[in-house]
Amino acid sequence: MNHAMILIAFFYVGFVFMVTRRITRDLIQDIDEEMLEQNQVYRKPAQEHLQLQAQRKKLEEQAETMFALYDMTREINKSFDESSARAVLETKLNEHRKDSDPDLKNILNQQFALALRRIQLYQEVERLAMMDSLTQVYTRRYILERLEEEGQRVLSRQASLSFLMIDVDYFKNYNDQHGHLVGDQLLREITRIIQENVREIDMVGRYGGEEFCVILPDTGQEDAYLVAERIRQAMESQAIKVYDLSLTATVSIGIATLLIHAQKVSDLIERADHALYEAKGLGRNKVIFARKFH
Ligand code: GH3
Ligand code: MG
Ligand code: MG
Repeated sequence: MNHAMILIAFFYVGFVFMVTRRITRDLIQDIDEEMLEQNQVYRKPAQEHLQLQAQRKKLEEQAETMFALYDMTREINKSFDESSARAVLETKLNEHRKDSDPDLKNILNQQFALALRRIQLYQEVERLAMMDSLTQVYTRRYILERLEEEGQRVLSRQASLSFLMIDVDYFKNYNDQHGHLVGDQLLREITRIIQENVREIDMVGRYGGEEFCVILPDTGQEDAYLVAERIRQAMESQAIKVYDLSLTATVSIGIATLLIHAQKVSDLIERADHALYEAKGLGRNKVIFARKFH
C-alpha cells in the first residue's frame, strides 16, 4: 500500500513538475516574444532617427556646396574683364581645394565659361556703343562723356584742354557726283587723315554726318591751332584715293580752348561750333578760334 502510494505520489509530483515546467517555458517564450516585439517597436524610431540624421548631414553638405557655388558664381559675375574673372576663379578653386568635389569644379568651370561669354558680349556692346561703325572713331555720345570727364579734370587742376570741330567742305557734292558709296569711303579716308595728324592721347570722334571733333587734352590754344592747321593742310594737299577715283577734299575747323573761350565744358562745343560756322562764312578751308569768353 505504502509502495503504491509512494509511486502515485511520485508520478503526481512528476506530472505537476512537467506541467509547471511547460507552463513556465511557454510563459518565458511569450515574455521573450513580447520583449522582442517591444524592442523592435522601440528600435524602429531609433533607426529612423539615425537615417534622418544621415539624410540631414547629406542635405547640409549639399546646401554648403550650393552656397559655395552661389558665392563663387556671384563673385565671378561681378567681374567686367577676363583677367579679374580668372583671378576670382583661381582664388575660389584654391579656397575649395580641400573638398575636391569634381561636380562642384565642373559646375564652377561652366559658370566661368558663361561669365567669360557675358564679359565678351558686354565688351562688344560697349565697343559698339563707343565706336562709329562707318569710320571706327568714337561716337558722339562717347566723345561727350569723355569731354565731360576730361573737362572736369582740367577745371579741378587748372590744366588746359582744347576742342576741335571739323566739317568737310561741300561734302554733299561728292555724294551728288559719285554716289553714297564713294561718299562713305571718302569719309573713312578723311577720318584716317585726321587720325594721322593727332597724338595717341587725342580723341577723335564722329560728331555727326561729315562732321568730326577732336578732344586735345593738355593742349593750350597755340598748340591746338598748330594741330588744326596740320589737319587742314594735310587734307588740302593730299590726293585721296577712293576706289578708282583720286579726290581732294578740304575741311573747316573751329577751335575752342577751355578757360579761354569757354568757362564750362558744356559751352566748349557751342563755341567751337560757332567758330566753325565763321570759318565756313569766311570761304571754308580755314581754321578759326572761338570768340573769347567775356
Ligand atoms: P558745307 O559743310 O561746306 O557747308 O557743305 P556740305 O555739303 O558739306 O554740307 P551739308 O550739310 O549741306 O551736307 C552734308 C552732306 O553730308 C549731306 C549728307 O548727305 C552727307 N552725309 C552725311 N553723313 C554721311 C554719310 O555717312 N555718308 C555719306 N556718303 N554722306 C553723308
Ligand atoms: Mg560739310
Ligand atoms: Mg556738316
